[in-house]
Amino acid sequence: MDMDAFFASVEQRDRPELKGKPVIVGSPPSQRGVVSAASYEARKFGVRSAMPSATAGRLCPKGIFVRPRMESYKAESVAIMNILAGTGARLEPVSIDEAYMDATEVLRGISPMLGQSPTAAENFTETDADKALYSALPLAREIRRRIFAERHLTATVGIASNKLLAKLASDFQKPNGLTLITERDKVAFLRPLPVRSLHGVGRVTEQVLLDAGLLTIGDLQDYPGDLRALVGSFARQLKDFAFGEDDRPLELDNTLKSISSEETFLKDTADRGILRASLRSQAEDVARKLERNRLAAKTVQVKLRYGDFTTLSRQITVEEPLTEAREIYRFACFLLSRERLVSRPLRLLGVGVSHLDAPEGRQLRLWREV
Ligand SMILES: [Mg+2]
Repeated sequence: MDMDAFFASVEQRDRPELKGKPVIVGSPPSQRGVVSAASYEARKFGVRSAMPSATAGRLCPKGIFVRPRMESYKAESVAIMNILAGTGARLEPVSIDEAYMDATEVLRGISPMLGQSPTAAENFTETDADKALYSALPLAREIRRRIFAERHLTATVGIASNKLLAKLASDFQKPNGLTLITERDKVAFLRPLPVRSLHGVGRVTEQVLLDAGLLTIGDLQDYPGDLRALVGSFARQLKDFAFGEDDRPLELDNTLKSISSEETFLKDTADRGILRASLRSQAEDVARKLERNRLAAKTVQVKLRYGDFTTLSRQITVEEPLTEAREIYRFACFLLSRERLVSRPLRLLGVGVSHLDAPEGRQLRLWREV
C-alpha cells in the first residue's frame, strides 16, 4: 500500500482551496531548502521531492509552496496504518506512507475487515498461486475504500506474490490504482521496465548495467553472460529479481542500524559556503530517511576525505534522540569546527547517524490504538 502524493494530498484535503492546484510541500523557492513532496498537478511540471525549492519554483512558477506539517502527516500515518492493521494481515510499515502486508493467513481464515474470506471462485483457470492472489482483491478494494471514506485520501495498492513485485505493482497505476501481478504474467510484466526499477539497483549499479547495454529488465533476463563480472555478489539476487523471484520476508521489527549521506566534490574544496550547503542537504537527506523509517538517532558522525585520500571520521553521541535535519546539521558543523578539520581542501564530505531507535512513544502508539 502506498499513499498517493501523501504530504501534498493531506494539504489539499485540509485546505480545499488547494484542490486541483500545483502544491509543493517544502521551503519557499526564495530560501535554500528542498521539496518534500509535490501534488500530481505540480509533478506535471517536473517537480520532484528532494529537488531544491529554487529549481521547483523555476519549473513551476504557479506552484503553491506550503511548509511541511510533519506532526499532521505522522498522525495521519498512524490512522492509516491502523486501518491496515485492522485487516488482520501482517504489517511492515516501510515509511510514513507505505507498508507491505502479508495477507496469506488472513485470506485462509476470517478477516476482521471482511468476515469470512471469499474462497477463490471455482471457475478460475489460473494456478493455485494466482488464485490466492485473486482472492486478495476484495481485501485490497476494502482497504482503499476505507482509507478514502475515513481519511479522505487515496492510496494505491499492489498485489503480488512477494515484496519486489508488490512494490512495483503499487507504483504501476498511480494515483488511486489497484494492480495485481500474477505469477503467470510476472516475467512479461517486468520485461519492459528500466533496470533502475528493480530493488537494489541504485544509481551506480544502474550506470554499470547501462554501460553494458542492459537497459531493461528484459535485457537482464536475456543476458547470456555472467552478471558477477558486472555487479559482483549482487548478481544472483539481481537475476532472481529480474525474473520476479524474491524471498525477502516481511520485517516486523526495524533492523536498520545506521543512515548516512555523502558527497564527492567535482573539485576538492575548502570553501565554507559549499561545504555548509553540502552538509545541510545531507542532513536533510538523513533526516528524511529517519522520518521514513520512523526513527530517531543518538549519534551523529561526519566523514571527511582529503585530496590525498586520507579519510577520517568523528562522532558525537547525545542524550536526546535527534530527528531534525537542522539538529543533525548543527552537530556535524560542531564536529568539523571542534578540531578544525577543514584545514585543507576536501574531496568528500559526509554525515551519518547511528544508535537508531523509535522516537519516544510513537511506535507503541501505532499498535496500542489498533
Ligand atoms: Mg507514496
